[in-house]
Amino acid sequence: MSENKDPHVAQGVKFVYDFTEGNKDLKDLLGGKGANLAEMTNLGLPVPPGFTITTEACKVYLDSGEEPAALRDEVGAHLAALEKKMGKKLGQADDPLLVSVRSGAKFSMPGMMDTVLNIGLSDKSVQGLAKQAGDDRFAWDSYRRLIQMFGKTVLGVDGELFEDALEKAKQAKKVAVDTDLDAAELKKLVTRFKKIVKSEAGRDFPQDPREQMDLAIHAVFDSWNTERAKLYRRQERIPGDLGTAVNVCSMVFGNLGPDSGTGVAFTRDPASGQQGVYGDYLQNAQGEDVVAGIRNTVPLADLEQLDKKSYDQLMQIMETLETHYKDLCDIEFTIERGQLWMLQTRVGKRTAGAAFRIATQLVDQGLIDEAEALQRVNGAQLAQLMFPRFDEDAKVEQLGRGIAASPGAAVGKAVFDSYTAIKWSRSGEKVILIRRETNPDDLDGMIAAEGILTSRGGKTSHAAVVARGMGKTCVCGAEDLEVDTKRRRLTVNGHVVEEGDVVSIDGSTGKVYLGEVPVVPSPVVEYFEGRMHAGADDADELVKAVHRIMAYADRVRRLRVRANADNAEDALRARRFGAQGIGLCRTEHMFLGERREMVEHLILADTDEERENALKELLPLQKRDFVELFEAMDGLPVTVRLLDPPLHEFLPDITELSVRVALAESRKDANENDLRLLQAVHRLHEQNPMLGLRGVRLGLVIPGLFTMQVRAIAEAAAERKNAKGDPRAEIMIPLVGTVQELEIVREEAEQVIADVERATGVNLKLSLGTMIELPRAALTAGQIAEAAEFFSFGTNDLTQTVWGFSRDDVEASFFTAYLEKGIFGVSPFETIDKDGVGKLVRDAVAAGRATRPDLKLGVCGEHGGDPESVHFFHEVGLDYVSCSPFRIPVARLEAGRAASTSAGSDHR
Ligand code: ADP
Ligand code: MG
Ligand code: MG
Repeated sequence: MSENKDPHVAQGVKFVYDFTEGNKDLKDLLGGKGANLAEMTNLGLPVPPGFTITTEACKVYLDSGEEPAALRDEVGAHLAALEKKMGKKLGQADDPLLVSVRSGAKFSMPGMMDTVLNIGLSDKSVQGLAKQAGDDRFAWDSYRRLIQMFGKTVLGVDGELFEDALEKAKQAKKVAVDTDLDAAELKKLVTRFKKIVKSEAGRDFPQDPREQMDLAIHAVFDSWNTERAKLYRRQERIPGDLGTAVNVCSMVFGNLGPDSGTGVAFTRDPASGQQGVYGDYLQNAQGEDVVAGIRNTVPLADLEQLDKKSYDQLMQIMETLETHYKDLCDIEFTIERGQLWMLQTRVGKRTAGAAFRIATQLVDQGLIDEAEALQRVNGAQLAQLMFPRFDEDAKVEQLGRGIAASPGAAVGKAVFDSYTAIKWSRSGEKVILIRRETNPDDLDGMIAAEGILTSRGGKTSHAAVVARGMGKTCVCGAEDLEVDTKRRRLTVNGHVVEEGDVVSIDGSTGKVYLGEVPVVPSPVVEYFEGRMHAGADDADELVKAVHRIMAYADRVRRLRVRANADNAEDALRARRFGAQGIGLCRTEHMFLGERREMVEHLILADTDEERENALKELLPLQKRDFVELFEAMDGLPVTVRLLDPPLHEFLPDITELSVRVALAESRKDANENDLRLLQAVHRLHEQNPMLGLRGVRLGLVIPGLFTMQVRAIAEAAAERKNAKGDPRAEIMIPLVGTVQELEIVREEAEQVIADVERATGVNLKLSLGTMIELPRAALTAGQIAEAAEFFSFGTNDLTQTVWGFSRDDVEASFFTAYLEKGIFGVSPFETIDKDGVGKLVRDAVAAGRATRPDLKLGVCGEHGGDPESVHFFHEVGLDYVSCSPFRIPVARLEAGRAASTSAGSDHR
């Protein structure tokens, strides 16, 4: 190898690390599994020796189609060292060293290669293994497993062929489980498996151990680019060029008889967070047997009876790991003839409730500080804890389980089509819409239903996406359920659910129950509502944990959190939930109901006088709304948005009205008002109302409309001041595209305010600002800031106008396809599109502040309550986020997480 052009070698890059050389912080290079194997090795825990091939080697392989030139030798050197340590050679005929080849990227990823165990076995070495172990059965069992795993994962043979052959062998012997097959039968099975490989893969099962190992290593590299892995990365925005590491680990055997076995364990209960003994163990088994459900496992606690020495050692190790990782760890281990071996550990997944409990428990144990505890939880978990849930003590009959697609607890009668869902819900029934999968035609049915249940499709299926968008409970992909829409029934394990039978679905766990499961309010919401106190002696442990972490988040966050609330009731709830003001009070609802008629008068007004009269009617009503709101939010800022939606929304439906007028005309008693109304409806009808006469445009073409609203706000504020209140109103102009629009409205508004101040003798200090929700507004933010004291980014409309799609029209029609193709990882209406919409926000912030350094900046789109978006808004320097009252705790928590400086945390 004199002619080595590989730049990595020139730079002395190392592609292979012994387990003794790595550590847990090298996940980029060694992958999660490799980094943690190294960490455990260096902690002195019993890890079977081995080495890790780096992600760098994989990258070279993926770029060039070939492994780096130096890799073969480097692997050879590490293998030789391993052989020396173990005192035997890979595949050595009389006493073979065997290894496993395991994939392991930085992020665990579906679609990566399954582990191949027992590499090094061949027709020859299987005999040696049998002799060394003194166990023929064990050796042939190991060999058949190798051919099966290797055939399937490395050579791409359909795994069912092996499973069928195994099944046949069991049937022939009339035994139920694989451990009942003896050596002779397993030997026959090996012959059968080899035939399958030959005929399916077109080659013999390789007998050369190094060839086995190299093929498996390449297969791991190749698995980086499986369709599933690629799709997952696109959706999760994991860069496609990270590559995976490969771990080569000497084998230990859990299938050497009853004094051997394999298991999984957690250092704490991942459901409750309690410390204790949690896990499963399976005697005389290897690898995935324990989770594959091929035989019945025993609870980990039973290991104490089976093998006290290993059990005690495992408990000791679990404590070491918890103290070292300062977190719940999940563990894979194997016992080989009474000797315990650690095969994997990582920081384990947990339920939302456990996350909060564990974080505070670890603070109490002195393992982490509060800043770290805050990073250990997230807004999505908090949101989950706020949904009502099924009573845990209720007796339930579980029908099956699917994917928890959209949280909540829903109960209703089973219906199998949208039409029935709508019909029944109109007559007051609660229904659960059950479909194999949903499509845009089901939309109305989904709206009518309490919850949606499908038997097909994953987290990005139509049902899941749309349900999440609507905030509706959804369980999807419940594959055990056989949905028969024609016969209007579903079957599961021989159980039949007919149309009209009551079912309950849990969108937080994916569980599906027969009958009505009682729903209880979330204790966390009771706490936020002030109906449950964290300080009370008998307070729920979860509530205490949430309280502590929220208090810390509030202490450290820079972003303020406001609420989108249109009335005093919502405002009061928002206040209880911790809102520091109202970021968006829409005024359109103040024109509906009984007041709609007054709006009609306004629209139909022919003369100035008629119009002024209509406005005069509305003024006192508007004022009263504001007085209530300012009182509810006394001392806190309230941003009131002047009228935004197109006028036709306040007029009767065009078809209905046309029919009414036509019928009246045929009876020759046409109503004058209806005729004028119909004319107005026609006049105001728009192809694209979203892009039509709305927002500031209304204020400019309907004289007196905005000034009436400003007057109502000003008079309400004056009244509150006179009542010794502390109103802090901010007047917000929607849909501004250019500073000139704002200047005109501003001048008129200032006059009105001055009028009111003069008339009442009160100094009002009202501020005036604008929404930034059109690309042009963002692009000219520097100019607009000259006429605005604050900006509030309306990221819903901004997203629509930047992408050029209307949410109502497109979400149900093509978002599923976009999510499935990985064009979106998540809907841009859920999480702000940082590169596009976000860039406009960032630039507008800079331009606005350049013009007016004390410009107040906030966001009032739904993104204000989305965790990832909150971090973005923190980062670009907004002053506050505003979201729906229910999302306020989530925003508070995430604002704290964004501001907290705890570095080096693994928790994203
Ligand atoms: P996954 O990433 O799916 O967890 P692993 O690489 O951990 O895959 O391996 C799958 C199974 O094989 C696990 O149960 C693991 O404990 C077991 N295993 C892996 N390597 C060895 C080995 N060298 N000896 C014994 N069992 C092993
Ligand atoms: Mg594993
Ligand atoms: Mg808007």
